Formats: sequence, structure tokens, C-alpha cells
Amino acid sequence: MSEYETVIGLEVHAQLLTHTKAFCACPATFGAAPNTQVCPTCLGLPGALPVLSARAVEFAVRTALALGCTLQKTSRFSRKNYFYPDLPKGYQISQFDEPCSEGGALSIEVPGASGARVEKVVRITRVHMEEDAGKSSHARGEDSIVDLNRSGVALVEIVGEPELSSGAEAAEYLRSLREILIFIGINDGNLEEGSFRCDANVSIRKKGAPQLGTRVELKNINSFRFVQKAIEYEALRQQAIVEGGGRIEHETRGWDEKAGRTFSMRSKETAQDYRYFPEPDLPPLVLEDAWIEQVRQAMPELPRAKRERFVSQYEITPYAAQVLTQHPQIASFFEHCARLHGDGAKAANFVQSEILGGIVTRGLEADFPISPAQLAELLGLVDAATISGKQAKEVYALIAGTPRAPADVVRERGMAQVSDAAAIDAIVAAIVLANSRQAEALRAGKASLMGFFVGQVMKETKGSANPQMVNDAIKRALGLG
Ligand SMILES: [Zn+2]
Repeated sequence: MSEYETVIGLEVHAQLLTHTKAFCACPATFGAAPNTQVCPTCLGLPGALPVLSARAVEFAVRTALALGCTLQKTSRFSRKNYFYPDLPKGYQISQFDEPCSEGGALSIEVPGASGARVEKVVRITRVHMEEDAGKSSHARGEDSIVDLNRSGVALVEIVGEPELSSGAEAAEYLRSLREILIFIGINDGNLEEGSFRCDANVSIRKKGAPQLGTRVELKNINSFRFVQKAIEYEALRQQAIVEGGGRIEHETRGWDEKAGRTFSMRSKETAQDYRYFPEPDLPPLVLEDAWIEQVRQAMPELPRAKRERFVSQYEITPYAAQVLTQHPQIASFFEHCARLHGDGAKAANFVQSEILGGIVTRGLEADFPISPAQLAELLGLVDAATISGKQAKEVYALIAGTPRAPADVVRERGMAQVSDAAAIDAIVAAIVLANSRQAEALRAGKASLMGFFVGQVMKETKGSANPQMVNDAIKRALGLG
């Protein structure tokens, strides 16, 4: 066992899914041609004034409420001054000493001592609003280019307390947080496009030491797996330095996935001290109680609550509930089917086994191969024994991607019959048992009795059994090769 422990604090920047930027009416959509979604305000031209987006405030408040933070009735914006090519104003509007919320918590599941998953509560320092900077690209051997479409896009920053103790815990924290932000509809959780970004502050200390060690900031890592690997690498690197009698440098490091190591990006020793001062162009942000209450009432259900409700309301396993809540649209699709059909467990089974693989998600949107109404009708046909469960899968393959009604396909293909061998065998066995005298006679060679047995099975299945299969089953039951 190592005598050191790793201490990790995460800062997450999440772009809010508002249509406009935080302080101007420019669209906040990703992927437009560079520098086409800009105006005097987000370009930082002299004289242009910021106007705060009400929707951005609502989304920040939703985030704070989802994380159990205490909302501040009055908060203020500050200018965070630094010089960088992607920051045309020369400052970023952020919240500094008076954020809109403080003191929440995020509960995550981590492996416990016995191997079982246990709950760990990580405190959230604050959730505050700010604006994004532009994006610079440094193409090799060419000039750097700047795209200001992102400049001024609304963000929330979620600052966590340094209470995580491994790369795996950090990754779990990020997954849980991302899931919550997606379910409350404020962020699309896209790490690759940078709409959900995290910085990790990593330090080590002797176990039980009261003081935190010198921290290294890991930046620009765009996958949870890489965050985990970078933290694990970083903890070992720092440990080797300390054990060798060296000193940890306060610096910002990146992750080189190919080499499997962190590398120094810039030293904090020489870094600029951000100068903050109050933003004079924006009034204090005042949140009215009645308005906060409205936002609270309209809060979408949180993922954990939804899973618990699915388990109790639809009587499905916790595992199934987990699978069905991997995306808000999948959860809502399942629930819609379950309500229309009436049997949540059956709907859950079919969605998991047949439909999940064909669902395409893009951010908060999702495309489904069939509608909840089509699925409910299909499951209804199985309940009515019009078709077997196996046939339901065939019908699904035929209607997927079309608006066709399952019943039409069943009729058209003449599928409305029981052709499930096991089901027919069971019916035949019961009929043979109930008519042992006739069975004995048929076995002895009275071939005309074959029709009697087929007729009994047809009567029992209301004529829906596959006749060839019934013949075979009777012969099998009586040992008539
Ligand atoms: Zn603008």
C-alpha cells in the first residue's frame, strides 16, 4: 500500500443549451462557418453593451437546484481580465466573489471495501454563470486562427470540493454530473465538441496529512477514460518526484494519449494573476422567490429518481432501469410504451433486446426505429396470442423505419397463427393425456384418428396453430416416427 493519497477537485464548464449567447442575441449553435455568429457585443467592440439572457439564468438555477445548492438572491458579475487572442474584450464576464449559488453536493457510486458499490457524497463548492471564450486553432506550420463563434456562449461552471481520491472516482463524478445536466435539459454533454469540459486539480499528500500538496491542473482532456488515466498517471508522477526528494511544480499539464503521459503546458509560477473587478455594464442579478419556485416546479425529473420510480412503478430490475435511463429520450420512449401497453416489464424487455441497438442519439435528440404506439400494438398482438414472441421480432424487423401498423403486417403475411413449437407441444401433450383411449388406438394403427387430434389442437388454439407443426407434434408425442 502506498503511503500517499491522491486528492482531486474537478471544475466543470458546461455550455448552456440556450438559443442565444449569454449577453447578446447571436445564435449559440455549434458548427457554423467560423466567425459568422458574432456581433459587436461578443466581438468586444467599444460601446457595445451586454444584456443577460433570462434563459441562461433559468438554466443556471436549474443546475444549482439539481445539485442541491443554495441560491443567492443577489449575485454579481465580474470581469476576469487576461490577455489571449480568443478573448477579444480582454476580459471574460464571470461571477467571482458573489456567485449565484453555493454549497451543493453530488452523490456518486464508488467501489467499497468489500467490492460492493457504495455511495459517496462529494460536496459542490458553487455553481456560477460565465461566458465562454472563442476558440483558437494552432495548425502546424501555419498561423494560428481564431473562431469567435463560441465567444460569449453561456456557461455554468460547477466547482467541486477536492474530495475525490482516484481517477476512477473522478470519472464517475463526471459521468454522474453529465447525466444530471443532460436530464435537466441544460447541456448536451458533448465532450468532443467541448460543450462539457473539465479541469482536474490533482495533488498528493501523505495519508492523513491535513495540508493539501501542491496541485497540478490537468486541462483539455476530452474523454472520461482519458481523465481517469491522466489522473492515475499524474498521481504516480508526483509520488515519484516527492519520493526522490523533489518538489511538485504548480503548473498546468495536458494529456498525451499516444505516449500515455501528462506533459507541461505552462507553469503557474509565471502565470498572470487574474485581475477581477465588478462588471459595470450589468446590474446585480436578483432572483425573485416566486420565480425560483416556478423553475423548481418545472424541473425535469433527475435520473436517479427516475430509475427508482421505474423500478417501483413498472416492476423492472434496477439494471433494466439503468439501461433505459441512459438517455432522456430513451427513458421517455420506454415510459410512453409502458403506459400505452400497460405492462412495463414487457415493454422494457422488448426495448432492451430489440430496439436499443437501433436508436440514434444526437445530443439531447434521438431517432427511434418505431413509435411507442407501434410497439404497444405489437406487444398487444403477442398478449392476445395472435403472434408469438418470436414472430413479434420478425414483425418488428418489417415495420422498423416505417409508419406501418403491426396488425397490417401480420394479416398481410398470414402470421396470425401459433407456430411456436414449444407452445404446440404443450397443447398436444395435454390433449393426448386427456384422450388416452384415442391415443392408444392411433398408436395401434387407427390412422383416421389423426384428424381427431389435429381438430382438438385447432379447437384449443382457436384455429391459430400451424397445421404442419401440429401434425409433427402429434406424431412426436405418440412416438409415430
Ligand atoms: Zn453576439
